[in-house]
Amino acid sequence: MNVLVINCGSSSLKYQLINSDSEEVLAKGLCERIGIDGRLVYQKEGCDKEITEAPMPTHKEAIQMVLDALTNDKTGAIKSLSEVDAIGHRIVHGGEKFAKSAIITDEMIAAVEECNDLAPLHNPANLIGIRVCQELMPGVPQVGVFDTAFHQTMPPKAYLYGLPLDYYKKYKVRRYGFHGTSHSYVSKRAVEFLGLNPEDSKVIVCHLGNGSSISAVRNGKCVDTTMGLTPLEGLIMGTRSGNIDPAIMEYVAKKENMDLPAIMNVLNKKSGLQGLSGVSSDMRDLEAAADGGNEDAQHAVEVLCYEIAKFVGGYVAAMNGVDAIVFTAGIGENDGRVRKTACSYLGYLGITIDDEANGKRGEDVVISTADSKVKVAVIPTNEELAICRDTVALVSGK
Ligand code: AMP
Repeated sequence: MNVLVINCGSSSLKYQLINSDSEEVLAKGLCERIGIDGRLVYQKEGCDKEITEAPMPTHKEAIQMVLDALTNDKTGAIKSLSEVDAIGHRIVHGGEKFAKSAIITDEMIAAVEECNDLAPLHNPANLIGIRVCQELMPGVPQVGVFDTAFHQTMPPKAYLYGLPLDYYKKYKVRRYGFHGTSHSYVSKRAVEFLGLNPEDSKVIVCHLGNGSSISAVRNGKCVDTTMGLTPLEGLIMGTRSGNIDPAIMEYVAKKENMDLPAIMNVLNKKSGLQGLSGVSSDMRDLEAAADGGNEDAQHAVEVLCYEIAKFVGGYVAAMNGVDAIVFTAGIGENDGRVRKTACSYLGYLGITIDDEANGKRGEDVVISTADSKVKVAVIPTNEELAICRDTVALVSGK
């Protein structure tokens, strides 16, 4: 079966065409600057990237260009659209309505629309992608895979905030968590790769990228995670603050004469590693500056490593133990220094890191020493493959 995986943002769209039998990526790429001017990146398996600048006033033109590229006579990965058997869409927020992926129907779309308030920037864009695919490829089954779904197994003690309960009852203010597709994929793979007992396993997944979150997964089910009602909570991130004292918002608003949208913009776009270092939100730039003696950059990196260790420690307590700690995403997969520094706080768990293994990249690898009491591993995430697998399972009625 060929599955087209679509991740539709407000002005961009990422796609992959995956053969679900071999799990091979037949083609992938992205559309950027939708509604501004338009740029298509297309790469067929084993070939160089092609870049086409062309107007994309809406997502419809963007998706049409992707379909044209996929079926192009010379460079297409397939001959015709009849070779696309199903479409899997990433959807950011499924609220409490979706604890797993779902086949897209009119009722399902209406239920997703009810969650739009919870992710006003993301869900409407995801829905546009779905509607355009329905229009351009009528009859092809489509599935929605939610960022929040994996975390729906959290118990009330993990998802309730210390706020008036009415906010939860009336407006569904609670912890939802994000990156669920990645946490689900990586925690399952960890159990398999590390030979843990699926029925009796305690895994902590550290998804560290531009956005970062950590989750505690017991027997395959999420019991806690760091992101909250929105992806702003938890760890310090590229430009997002993560946890702060909420009173800071009022204090700074008064001092700087700012309104709430301006404060939220700072917390989402001007804080985090970028805000703290004044250098960059990108870990590679930050480490280069830190190595060059920039103290602000050094502190930003230290804050991240320290926070990782504090959340991991909290989740060891939440699960009363841990079998494995797994790192994934851009920083988690590539940055041995961050992994080593974060783990240096965890000596009390009997963790020791094997420096040679910690230097490897691009593969599933155990980075703890043979005598380490807790296994530490790196497992590259693959959200597109996870979306493809869920799509196939639902479409084939498994
Ligand atoms: P993601 O959001 O998962 O794409 O991750 C993006 C983050 O990963 C950025 O902060 C990058 O700087 C970081 N990253 C990517 N490659 C490396 C690397 N080789 N070393 C350190 N950080 C990296």
